[in-house]
Amino acid sequence: MANPPGAREEKQERKTATTDPRKKASFTVPVAKGLINTLKHILRREPNTIHYPDEKRTPYPGYRGEHRLKRDELGREKCVACFLCSTACPAHCIEIVAEEAPWDDREKRPRLFNIDMMRCIYCGMCEEACPCDAIELTPVFNIPSRTRAEKIYDKEKLLSL
Ligand code: SF4
Ligand code: SF4
Repeated sequence: MANPPGAREEKQERKTATTDPRKKASFTVPVAKGLINTLKHILRREPNTIHYPDEKRTPYPGYRGEHRLKRDELGREKCVACFLCSTACPAHCIEIVAEEAPWDDREKRPRLFNIDMMRCIYCGMCEEACPCDAIELTPVFNIPSRTRAEKIYDKEKLLSL
């Protein structure tokens, strides 16, 4: 049976690749470089681990951690209970109940503002959606809890972070 066109050339090329010392050398150099690099990392004295909790890692800029409700210069919550954050939240984990604000510069404020942190996916959409810069995701990542109820952050907790 006749060989398909180009099969002979392909076979010859494969043969040359395994026998030609120049082609072999082209693999040897990168492999040697890789091994040297690995050896450098093995012999390096700098530790790659940190002794948490005695040592703490600084999160990278833009890290999205625990949520915080901000206060204005008078110490009042900035939130005006507009519900934009809860509408934008893809996890539906923000619960807001509004009430009339006792101040002249806004109509409403949140009477209840809960975030279920067990459902939150830390996407940052609430922060993006807020027109008042009232909510933000902080670099804090280590608030422990023992129960599910503790992971529901209420307004007081969010304002204290
Ligand atoms: S970070 Fe995302 S999931 Fe979490 S409360 Fe904000 S919008 Fe919802
Ligand atoms: S945190 Fe911002 S977006 Fe959410 S209800 Fe308050 S003002 Fe509106």
